[in-house]
Amino acid sequence: MDFTIGEETRLMLELMERFVREEIIPLETAFLTKSFSEIEPEVDKLRVKVRQMGLWGPAQPREYGGMGLPLTDFALVSEVLGQSPLGHYVFGCHAPDAGNIEILAEYGTPEQKKRWLEPLVAGEIRSCFSMTEVELPGSNPVMMDTTAVKDGDHYVINGQKWYTTSADGAAFAIVMAVTNPEAPPHRRASMIIVPTDTPGFDLVRNIAVMGHAGDGWFSHAEILYHSCRVPQSNLLGPEGEGFRIAQERLGPGRIHHTMRWLGVCRRALDLLCKRAVTRPIAPGQVLADREIIQAWIAESAAEIEAARALTLQTAWKIEHQGWKEVRQEISMIKFVVANVMQRVVDRALQVFGGLGMTDDTILAFFYRHERAARIYDGADEVHKLSLARRILKPYRARAEELKEGNRVFR
Ligand SMILES: Cc1cc2nc3c(=O)[nH]c(=O)nc-3n(C[C@H](O)[C@H](O)[C@H](O)COP(=O)(O)OP(=O)(O)OC[C@H]3O[C@@H](n4cnc5c(N)ncnc54)[C@H](O)[C@@H]3O)c2cc1C
Repeated sequence: MDFTIGEETRLMLELMERFVREEIIPLETAFLTKSFSEIEPEVDKLRVKVRQMGLWGPAQPREYGGMGLPLTDFALVSEVLGQSPLGHYVFGCHAPDAGNIEILAEYGTPEQKKRWLEPLVAGEIRSCFSMTEVELPGSNPVMMDTTAVKDGDHYVINGQKWYTTSADGAAFAIVMAVTNPEAPPHRRASMIIVPTDTPGFDLVRNIAVMGHAGDGWFSHAEILYHSCRVPQSNLLGPEGEGFRIAQERLGPGRIHHTMRWLGVCRRALDLLCKRAVTRPIAPGQVLADREIIQAWIAESAAEIEAARALTLQTAWKIEHQGWKEVRQEISMIKFVVANVMQRVVDRALQVFGGLGMTDDTILAFFYRHERAARIYDGADEVHKLSLARRILKPYRARAEELKEGNRVFR
């Protein structure tokens, strides 16, 4: 494995780092105190600057106007941008559009690419991904109630979804719906493009998450699909292959998420250290003089480095060996990094005391919103179970042999 950062990549990362510090972070106070639509004009100005710098769409395919960076380079970019909740959005590589772009680029028909992919990569429209249902477990999505039934040249979609992130103001949704109810469970669902102005696409509400409903890109909607009729040509990828496509998207998508979380960790630890060396705690002494704070700093730094090494190694393997070879690591980084992030943010908030609880720093936002990392993209428990299953497989295969008179395990 070669993690050497080329000169071009290093310079790009430096530019991005400076942009995050000088242009994006100063917008955060407005982000924390106003609605997203209120600050959108300011955010859009930054997006224009990013385009002028030639740094738009780092992960998006070159042929559609992105930078087309390899996964390991984008992982490093994601870490830098992840330091601010607005970082990925300003650079045009934000969820859920980034994942939808990957799907459209791989499986879209020429017409779908023209109509949806090109303006999506250009940042002219937004999209959402609508899979999770209110009444059934997102952790086991083969249990799905939403149906898409053929009627003439159309699919008619009925179902109730929620947590459709960024649906508010999106131009279209990629909806997972059961098209082949008689097929084996993993072959029943398909992805279908549904323009959000289709009659029967009813955005019921933006759900309040940790006390904040949000709006626009920064929101999570509940949606009723009520006899929502779209042409069959809106099918994305082969019929019945929805889960397989979602699975394929999972590897690179996981790297995007986890490196963004490591960006959150970096920012939180940086804030923690700044506070620790400046906050007086006794005459002539600051918080950083206390061993317990030093231990938190050391533990955080070590945990971040370990999580980062595992994530970069996984990114490298996905890029060079393919995601199927690294299923275990793809599961590992999910719960390892999500939990490191939670601990680091918690320690930083604690060091800030009462100030940490306010929105005068970004820490309370991280604490509220990044808690979800242990739930979305597969709950931690699901990944732990699947990892353990793979680890145990060869042992189970030898269980009889291991049992036979062999009471001492070597
Ligand atoms: C901020 C956020 C954004 C999201 N964005 C989107 C989006 O854009 N599009 C979309 O479709 N969905 C989205 N989701 C939904 C997300 O994918 C689901 O919440 C997730 O898959 C878990 O499903 P669930 O909420 O139905 O929980 P359940 O499946 O009901 O699971 C509940 C809990 O049970 C435990 N559990 C689950 N399975 C097992 C098991 N096998 N063994 C032991 N314990 C288990 C876990 O602790 C889990 O947290 C988002 C969620 C959040 C919080």
